[in-house]
Amino acid sequence: QETIVIVGAGQAGAQVAQSLRAEGHEGPIRLIGEEPHPPYQRPPLSKKYLAGDLGAEALYLRPPAFYTTHNIDLIPDTRVTGIDRAAKRIRLANGDTLDYGRLVLATGTRSRTLDLPGSDLPGVMTLRGMVDVDAIRMRMVAAKTIVIIGAGYIGLEVAAVAQGMGKAVTVVEALDRPMKRVVSPQVSSYFAGLHRARGVTLLLDTGVDAIEGTAEGIDGVLLSSGKTIPSDLILVAVGAQPNDELAAEAGLETDNGILVDGAGQTSDECIFAAGDCSRFFSARYGRSVRMESVQNAIDQAKAVATALCGGEVDYDPLPWFWSDQYDIKLQIAGLSDEYDNTVVVGSPEDHKFYVAYLKNGQLIAVDSINSPRSHMMARRVIGEAWREDLLPGA
Ligand code: FAD
Repeated sequence: QETIVIVGAGQAGAQVAQSLRAEGHEGPIRLIGEEPHPPYQRPPLSKKYLAGDLGAEALYLRPPAFYTTHNIDLIPDTRVTGIDRAAKRIRLANGDTLDYGRLVLATGTRSRTLDLPGSDLPGVMTLRGMVDVDAIRMRMVAAKTIVIIGAGYIGLEVAAVAQGMGKAVTVVEALDRPMKRVVSPQVSSYFAGLHRARGVTLLLDTGVDAIEGTAEGIDGVLLSSGKTIPSDLILVAVGAQPNDELAAEAGLETDNGILVDGAGQTSDECIFAAGDCSRFFSARYGRSVRMESVQNAIDQAKAVATALCGGEVDYDPLPWFWSDQYDIKLQIAGLSDEYDNTVVVGSPEDHKFYVAYLKNGQLIAVDSINSPRSHMMARRVIGEAWREDLLPGA
């Protein structure tokens, strides 16, 4: 019976293991992760978990007993350091080796960091895992002033939580509007207004030149304008980069992500990849994409499990995503970046609207703000020609 080894015990890795069992794989499954916790969901990390509204166990994807019951050998606290493709064997940080029949890489991403004077001072943090949030939260409770570098989802979600905890929050963004890479000017403008109305200082078009402080602690952030903003805690939230080095060092094809086909297979037929670390060609979008979302981690992992069990799959999903900031839920369906026109339905003033993105008259994506019905419907009708009654009112 074939042994399937999964590297990375996160959202995608856990899903591969679970789906392999559901699809009838009877051989050994080893799920290896470098984090101390059993597989958990990350979205609450920058939302309810940071706010202290959820405990660690509430984030676990499955209770720890699930893995024993399903005969999944969960190996935490263990980093995989190398792949010997000829011997079909992986190397662990403690020097041990493990043999595989087929291997799945589900190594996710890590936070990008800034290469600036002072960026390695204590008090400059990034947010990817539970351990990060535990450290951030400890400092945040004591902090009076917080600077967040980067107005993407994670930066803005943390800003909302910190503001709710009564902190003086400044968000510094190099681009001219928040979440610029993923949403339209209308949606950016709504979220900029929302954060400012709640008391967050949002500085756009603003670079950071240095972090000021000593080994004892940070003092503040020196902006490109020459001004320094005092800060007790600095969160660097400037995006993520794929953990694809293990694959690259083993000679697999990578390009800002591990390259896979519609079955999740890499350039080695015995090695698959799924989740944030992988990049695939999407016929739907006519280009290669690397996604960072729960939807992608789960659905691609399911496709990989099906392929490993001998099924036919051609993974090319309609992507969807969400972000919670204060009491506002942003839900995104489709990729909007190639739009040539937008239609706004509902009222930003009432915090309930959606933006439909069109390309050549066709609906390609929808951003819904406190409008879950339009989001659910959008996931069904994206691709159709736009008409006013295609989606429900906001
Ligand atoms: P991960 O869940 O990151 O798992 C990868 C695992 O592999 C990690 O545990 C890592 O430690 C381990 N690993 C890496 N290298 C090795 C190695 N060499 N040896 C052993 N283990 C290794 N998505 C949404 O759709 N909605 C949201 O609201 C949302 N919010 C988010 C908020 C935060 C703060 C973060 C960080 C992410 C959020 N995401 C959200 C994204 C979503 O969580 C990810 O897309 C998803 O977790 C990807 O799953 P994955 O299994 O590919 O990677």
